[in-house]
This record gives sequence, C-alpha cells and structure tokens, in this order.
Amino acid sequence: MSRLAEGVGVLWQYALARLPRFRSRADVVNHQQKSWRHLENFVLTKSPFYAPYAHRPFHDYPIIDKQQWMKHFDEINTLQIMLDAALRVAEEAERTRDFNPTLQGISVGMSTGTSGARGIFLASRSERTRWAGTLLAKMLPAGIFAPARIALMLRAGSNLYETLSGGMRLHFQYFDLAMPFDEVLAKLEHFKPSILVGPPSVIALVAEAVKSRQIQLCPSRIIAAAEVLDPVDASRVTDVFGVSIEQIYQATEGFLGHTCAQGVIHLNEDCLIFEKDWIDRSTRRFAPIITDLHRSTQPVIRYRLNDILIEREQPCSCGSPFIAIDRIEGREDDIVWLPKAAGIGVVPVFPDVLSRALLNAMPSANDYQIEQSGPTTLRVGISPTPTSVDRQGIQLALAQCTQRAKAVAPHIEFGAWAGGLALQKCRRVRRLIDMPGRHHV
Ligand SMILES: [Zn+2]
Repeated sequence: MSRLAEGVGVLWQYALARLPRFRSRADVVNHQQKSWRHLENFVLTKSPFYAPYAHRPFHDYPIIDKQQWMKHFDEINTLQIMLDAALRVAEEAERTRDFNPTLQGISVGMSTGTSGARGIFLASRSERTRWAGTLLAKMLPAGIFAPARIALMLRAGSNLYETLSGGMRLHFQYFDLAMPFDEVLAKLEHFKPSILVGPPSVIALVAEAVKSRQIQLCPSRIIAAAEVLDPVDASRVTDVFGVSIEQIYQATEGFLGHTCAQGVIHLNEDCLIFEKDWIDRSTRRFAPIITDLHRSTQPVIRYRLNDILIEREQPCSCGSPFIAIDRIEGREDDIVWLPKAAGIGVVPVFPDVLSRALLNAMPSANDYQIEQSGPTTLRVGISPTPTSVDRQGIQLALAQCTQRAKAVAPHIEFGAWAGGLALQKCRRVRRLIDMPGRHHV
C-alpha cells in the first residue's frame, strides 16, 4: 500500500473510531456481543487453536497467559506463522533497531516480562492502521486538522509506530531512547513538540533538563505511556510544565485504555472485552483478562495480563460507561509477599502502597527503589542519600504499611540508589525472589 493510501486508511479508521457513542452499559454490552459474533464467525474459525471452540459459550474458551500464548503460538495465529520465524524477526529488530522488516507483511512485536518471559505479537498492516486511527481519535479530541507536533519517545521502536507518520497538519517524530540521552534532548528541543509522549520516568528526565535550563520546551500536553505513572514522576513533571499528565494504557498486547477529560483512566471497552480476575477484592485490585474484538492475525482471546489495576469505586463524572480505573499499579510479579504476622502463609503488600509510604516519609526523595531481596527483607535505595532521620522515618512508615497488611515487619536494608537509565523499563518496586503459585489472596 502506498503512503497516501495508508494515510487515507488511518483517516478512515479515525472517523470510524470517533463514531460509536456509548451512553450506557447496555450499549457497551450490545456492541461487544455483536463484535464477538463477527469475530467468532470470520476469524476464530481460521485459527487451529480456537476453531474447536467456535460457537460455544464465551466462557468455554480457555483463559490463557503469556506462557500458553507462546506455547500455542503456531496454532493460535490464523496465517500459519511459526514461532521460530517470528522470533528471528523480532530479535533481529531489537539488535539492529531497524523495526521495518516484516514476515509476509506482518509486523512482529515483542513484549518483555520478568524472568525473561517474552511474548511475541503479530499485526497486519490493516491492524496497525486501525490501531493508529483509534489512538488518534481517542487522544486528539480537537481533531486531526488542528495542528500538533507530537514527539514519541519510545524504547522499543516498532513499525507499528511508523504507521502514525504523515498526514495533515500533524507532525510526528519518533525518538529512539537507545540513542545517547543528550542527543534525544537536543533533538527534542529542535523539534519543539506541542505534545510529548513517552514513559513517565523518561518524561521526568526531560522535565529535569528543562528545569536546569539545559533545554527549552513548552509542550501543552504530556502523555505518559508504556509504564506505571509513579507519583514521584507525576509531581516532578507537573511542577516543571504546569500541566497534569494524561495516560495511555498501552502494551504490545494492545491499546487498552486512556485518561478522559477528568483525568480518569477508562478501559477501551469498545475495542476489547475486559474480565476481572480479582487479586484482592477488598481493595478492588484485579488482573485484566482481555479479549480483543478486532485482531484477526493473532486473535487475543481471554488473555490474562499480569498488570494490577485498581477499579474506581465511584462512577466517573465524565459520563463514560467504560470501566474506570483509579490506578495502574504495576505488575503482579512485583507484589511484595511477606509472612503473615500471625499464623502461616504469606500476605501481599502492593507496590503502590509501599511507594506512597516511602514518599510520604521522605518528601525530598527524587527517586527510589524498593526491592524484595529475601523472604522478609526489603532493600531500599534512595536519591539523594537519606539522612539518619529520613531512614528512621522510612523504616517506621514501611513497618506501618506491612502491619496494616497483617504481615511481619520486614528487615529494611538501605543501599545505594542504582540510578535510572532512559532505555531501562522503570520498575521502582520489584520482587527479586520467586513466589511460586502465589497469585490470589
Ligand atoms: Zn471519565
């Protein structure tokens, strides 16, 4: 397809994505059922893995995770693409940072995970176009005819993002975070973005460069994507640029949600079905199980992500009937598990709870890491180096946190802060030890 035709495709998708209006849950459910029937009739019958389930009730379809996704890769996709061939393309792209090569016109994306579990995702050109159109429609409510200069700062490039180039008065530039960061900054200053999109920890580094007058930038919108928005980054960015951060909940697995005008994240229930696998119902934390209503190269059916989402208690005042989320907390793999204070077994202490406790105890902290390095040990690294008064405050705050979770008080080890790199995915709370079979409370 020529670039012009592709541009038209993006606009068509854009128009389409702007059309549906959902006023109630019933509208949403109707739309999902209709799309699901279409998917079942025209796509799932072509997948050797899913064909045997076609026309059985939705809940008969198996829930799968990344391991099973990879194990059944060859049978799930509808084009008989073999995992070995897809892996070769993805690995070569990461190595050369040339994300253009495709497999029979199908682009290959890789998602990373803890313990080296990688997920491979396929997308055809029309699926990429739909993705780009939907993203544009949802994130640019003023329309694509309003001029905007959009800087996309990304770790893993992908020809998924190339799809966004060109078109009307929108200017996109992609900044590869594998480049030296000073170069990224210089190019950003030259490009003068009106909309800055990137991982929040990287946007925070840009904010710091602006604050120290290394570069000048005045974007009117800031959109965080690709990792959890930590309160320490949010306040740093808002202080410098004077605008609040919007969020895109986007993964290799799909474009899953975004903030509304009220700043609340809603899940994209017009494109996907979300089921909730409760991790802790009392605090409204769940892992989403997603079913993509449009993907046809590689159907994503009842795929369980290991993200922790916190459902919002009250409906959002914007009136959207889509599920509203208070926070995206991080990965389930990063839940800290400590022995119960009384009895046997372990209880979860959630990453976000630990982050907030630490930041409350030491408001001057610029950055931090909390790692569970042993069954009852948390290793804490903070920049700047905490004073002994800070340390006592942090120890007390973390002990109170774990006490509230009815866990034993952990042993806190203070270590050096390891520093952030733009190319590294930022996970400030991490569990370094295995906790096999601990998924549910
Ligand atoms: Zn809303």
